Amino acid sequence: MLADNTDLIQPTCSNDSYAGGHFIAGQLVAAASDETFVVTNPATGREVGRAALGNARDVEKAVAAAAKARQQWAAVPVRERGAKLARGATRLLEQAEEIARLLALETGKAIRTECRPEVLTAADIGTFYAGLGSELKGETLPFRPDLLSVTIREPLGVVAAILPWNVPLVLMMLKIAPALVAGNTVVVKTAEEAPLATLMAARILAEELPAGVLNVIHGFGPECGQPLVEHPLVAKVTFTGSQPVGETIYASAARKLIPVSLELGGKSPMIVMADADLPKAVAGAIAGMRFTRQGQSCTAASRIYVHETIYEDFLTRLAAETRKLKIGDPLDETTDIGTIISQDQMERITHFIAIGRETPNVRMIVCGTAPDDANLDPALFALPTLFADIPDESPLMREEIFGPVACVVPWSDYEDVLEAANDTDFGLAASVWTNDLAKALDATRRLDAGYVQVNQNLTIQPNLSYGGFGKSGLGKEASLEAMLEHFSRKKTIVFAG
Ligand code: ADP
Repeated sequence: MLADNTDLIQPTCSNDSYAGGHFIAGQLVAAASDETFVVTNPATGREVGRAALGNARDVEKAVAAAAKARQQWAAVPVRERGAKLARGATRLLEQAEEIARLLALETGKAIRTECRPEVLTAADIGTFYAGLGSELKGETLPFRPDLLSVTIREPLGVVAAILPWNVPLVLMMLKIAPALVAGNTVVVKTAEEAPLATLMAARILAEELPAGVLNVIHGFGPECGQPLVEHPLVAKVTFTGSQPVGETIYASAARKLIPVSLELGGKSPMIVMADADLPKAVAGAIAGMRFTRQGQSCTAASRIYVHETIYEDFLTRLAAETRKLKIGDPLDETTDIGTIISQDQMERITHFIAIGRETPNVRMIVCGTAPDDANLDPALFALPTLFADIPDESPLMREEIFGPVACVVPWSDYEDVLEAANDTDFGLAASVWTNDLAKALDATRRLDAGYVQVNQNLTIQPNLSYGGFGKSGLGKEASLEAMLEHFSRKKTIVFAG
């Protein structure tokens, strides 16, 4: 039993500094090099804590622990594996506040609008998968009457789960829950910007699991992530992150001939038809843009195409509603929007804003005000920004900004807007806003995206298969299909009497 959270990640001093070791074979351990790296609170610039700086030697230990636990875990009856995960999910809920607070500290995301809901969603995904173990079924294959031919599903072995910083708890759970229920053991590589809440949540889950079944290591991509992907005993990689890193991982996995799931970027279109319910569409644009997450979402509805007859009205309302969101201290209960994760990310956003500002005939609408609080560092507070009338060929319309920047464009011809919406390398999500059922059906069929919604912009939900087309990645998450297709393998067995 864990006594309390000081036992999860020991604060090393009274000023709330957390020391996050690797979690290997049920133990918190220092890095092989004994080195650590600083985790910074983006809202204050102050240190939240330090995490073990992993390299290939730490990877070796974590993978060895996962490999050792493999057979024992695979031998646990499937419903019992699910029951353990369900108990872990309940524990997450019991400690939700502590986890959410740490998540807010290290990511700068607002605790009320983002961090608490994230813990709840992570637990919900765990509970969803916990009940799906019995679906790991095979088939009987009609062949010859004197033979019994069947397929069974087996675990793959050691799964590497590589995480980004934007929604680390949900993304961790989307990977580890199906992997564990299917009988695999896991090594999680946390995001270097936000390793601590992930570690805390994983340790809570691991309380219900045999040692070595769920391991967590920290470190940077080339030094820690890459050796993990390349390790000979890693049988599967599941990754969420940027497209270039996804391509690197895919190439490394190809050399080992192991399966990968990749959830990469997006540039998701939102098409608002002339008959759309305007207030609903405006609220949908704010939700879709993930403004409360500072737009740091691969699903962000960052290209908003609005029919010309309602365009100006939509724009005015969108700006007015966005201005109502309060930007401030992530830990303040009244805050809607926190900070950008890092200086690098802020520079990327600033770069795109500069391009938009310098594009002729483009209107730039900045919404909201920066917080005026001496306890906060203003450096990473970005104001939601709308660019209206932006040309299709602008980098703002083509590249993933991963910040609170939305492009709003008028359209008049339905065929043209569908073509523009599909004119992207990505294909993660899309939405259509109309009360015309026939139009909605037509558009949903023709949009090249893996997750298409009508009159809403939901986030990832358990049981709704999620995954992109094109450069948005490979494979699905959040569904039964994800567990069956991506975390188990099928074996054919033929019995003779
Ligand atoms: P972001 O831009 O969102 O930080 P990245 O794709 O750079 O996304 O990183 C996502 C995750 O991938 C992080 O955990 C990072 O450490 C890891 N990573 C980065 N480079 C590599 C690599 N070459 N091999 C494996 N993992 C990597």
